Amino acid sequence: SRTLLRVEDLKVDFQVPGGVVQAVRGVSFRVRAGSTVALVGESGSGKSVAAQSILRILPRNAAIADGKILFDDGIVNDGAGPVDIASLKADGTAMRALRGGRISIIFQEPMTSLSPLHTVGDQVGEAVRLHQRVTARQARAQAEDMLRRVRFPDPKRALDTYPFELSGGLRQRAMIAMALVCRPALLIADEPTTALDVTIQAQILKLIKDLQADLGMAVLLITHDLGVVANLADEVVVMHRGRIMESGTREDIFADPRHPYLKALLRAVPRFHMAPGERLVPIRSITSQGGSLLEKDHQPWPPGADAAGPLLAVEGVRKLYGARKAGWFGAKAGAGTLAVDDVSFAIAR
Ligand code: ATP
Ligand code: MG
Repeated sequence: SRTLLRVEDLKVDFQVPGGVVQAVRGVSFRVRAGSTVALVGESGSGKSVAAQSILRILPRNAAIADGKILFDDGIVNDGAGPVDIASLKADGTAMRALRGGRISIIFQEPMTSLSPLHTVGDQVGEAVRLHQRVTARQARAQAEDMLRRVRFPDPKRALDTYPFELSGGLRQRAMIAMALVCRPALLIADEPTTALDVTIQAQILKLIKDLQADLGMAVLLITHDLGVVANLADEVVVMHRGRIMESGTREDIFADPRHPYLKALLRAVPRFHMAPGERLVPIRSITSQGGSLLEKDHQPWPPGADAAGPLLAVEGVRKLYGARKAGWFGAKAGAGTLAVDDVSFAIAR
């Protein structure tokens, strides 16, 4: 399919006391219409800054220093080719029309997008009225329709509820409704489920996948979760210290990871199809950081046994949720919840 977004040699600098931080140092990748691209990489590698650049919502002390962000949904520029988002005025008319209209973003924390002071109906309706000339009644009808699509149990009643009355999962759904009510061509999801418990995470990811099919939008998914990548991504872009380390189709990346970081990371995902005699080995350097760290090799397991090893072995898995700064590698200690603390088990054949 055609290219919806092409980021070319993007550079983003932060002005900080005493100098400049180059957060994004020449990043290029593309997103095809309707596809899912996973943007992965350790904490601080520049994923969120890259995403904020695409929407031109960078913090005040940051600026795009170089590069292009070419967006072409067949509608901008009256269909006459891509618009370069990097050269638009961040608060100009063109950017305001794109933001929330053709490109939307959802975050880990729904209250980043939702106001506590207004009802869900007003907020989703307001998102419509920012982009379309419709009456309040029509906006409300569109909001209700979108709340139904994100599977609110009672969309009509949800219109009149306030965010604080909703569970975390429903708040996430309200944020998604607000982001998608104008049918954007691109949804950027910046760790959309990291703060949610595992069951709700799975529901929200399934919802995003279903909505993507319904609405025909592309998704740029920022995640630390390789299980999610394996499930959802068509293509994978790996960032490291402001640069692209590697990129490719999901199949390429999972079959042939060339970078040692990603390789270690992929091995840390327990597989359900282990060959006889394969075992899972903790990666020591990462174990101490609290990741889920298992590597398969071809040693018999348990040691001394023959090829009739277990189907699956999980050793000492620790998994940290909700720590914004807990990356895959070199994780800084964060205020996260240790959701899985030193779990080991094996499933026999
Ligand atoms: P995480 O997985 O933790 O969300 P990330 O890949 O999204 O990480 P970014 O938030 O994009 O990382 O940050 C990239 C880099 O940009 C940081 O390492 C930091 O050097 C710099 N940076 C981010 N925000 C600021 C800021 N407000 N002031 C100065 N530098 C910043
Ligand atoms: Mg981030």
